[in-house]
Amino acid sequence: MQKATINWTNTLIFTLTPLFALTLVPWYGFTYGYELFEVVVFVILMGYCGMSITAGYHRLWSHKSYKAHPFVRFVFALGGACALQNDVLHWASDHRRHHAHVDNNEKDPYSAGLGFWYSHMGWILRNYESGKEDFSNAKDLQNDPIVMWQHRHYLSLVLIMNLGLPAFLGWLNGDILGCVLLGGLLRLVLSQHVTWLINSVAHIWGRQTYSEDSSARDNPLLALVTYGEGYHNFHHTFQWDYRNGVRWWHYDPTKWFIAGCSWLGLATDLKRCSPVVIESARLDMQYQRASESFYALSDAISNADTWRQRLEQEYEQCKAALHAWAAHQQTWYEAKSSELHEKWSHWDKRKLRDSYRESQFRLKIQKQRWEVLMQSVPTLAGSSI
Ligand SMILES: [Zn+2]
Ligand SMILES: [Zn+2]
Repeated sequence: MQKATINWTNTLIFTLTPLFALTLVPWYGFTYGYELFEVVVFVILMGYCGMSITAGYHRLWSHKSYKAHPFVRFVFALGGACALQNDVLHWASDHRRHHAHVDNNEKDPYSAGLGFWYSHMGWILRNYESGKEDFSNAKDLQNDPIVMWQHRHYLSLVLIMNLGLPAFLGWLNGDILGCVLLGGLLRLVLSQHVTWLINSVAHIWGRQTYSEDSSARDNPLLALVTYGEGYHNFHHTFQWDYRNGVRWWHYDPTKWFIAGCSWLGLATDLKRCSPVVIESARLDMQYQRASESFYALSDAISNADTWRQRLEQEYEQCKAALHAWAAHQQTWYEAKSSELHEKWSHWDKRKLRDSYRESQFRLKIQKQRWEVLMQSVPTLAGSSI
């Protein structure tokens, strides 16, 4: 790609702020010290900025994975300005292009194909063609009054949230500069790099659990610092799902926050992809990888054909068990919501419920067999060396 011209505004902001953070923050700490108050402000603003980007800019505005009350959108708009990651309109438009043209070095604004540095922050420092302002993919957002209000007053909001708010909080506690340095400067730099890790690290290191169509990876460690956004392979595969960590134990505070808003009536229409589609995608990827491993082993182990047949058979049985469970679940839910259900005999209700539970149990056993088979693949590969 031809070297684009330098964007001096961004270059100065994104090189000077880390430089000042690395020098002024420790200097002030060693000279005057910080109080618990400034540390608390830092932690709260860090979480506020992060959540405004993940739950607001990303899952709400870019992907429309749920709908939010105007109050929540207003709070996110302020938090997004505090994070200094451009306004919603620019951010979401860039991000939609990232998904539409992922890994295309000419069109993806932060294509991982151009390396770690480029996808992390290099793309912001020059006027690349792929980052050119084009809101044609964000017409819906131009109808959101809060998005447009933030767009019009972005610079003022950035100054209020990054200087005004920490200075005011510092004034309340009697240490303006300490609060501006910790809650303003250090928080700003760290929250930006945390978000950028999703464009860099989550497209380089981790597992491609659901699809190999893009470079996106599931990285549970990254989820710990990115409010749950580390499950990036799931996200690129099922981008309109409000969850990134789909299992209940996956660390995804953004998902829990959105669910919490929904319980309070502040979020509605939370979109979830069907478990059958998600599990099928995971199964297909495991099957594809195991097939490739067995194919590679065909000359090394004598019973490769037997293993291949076993793989085929278990894969088919897994798929069948999955679909049977989904069909029984559908029937069970439909029956439960039917008006006639109350008139059914106890025996009929029991029969239907039991057949659903049986299909659930069969699926569980089948999945356990499949996992055992998957675990034996690396063992076989090891024995052939
Ligand atoms: Zn996304
Ligand atoms: Zn991505």
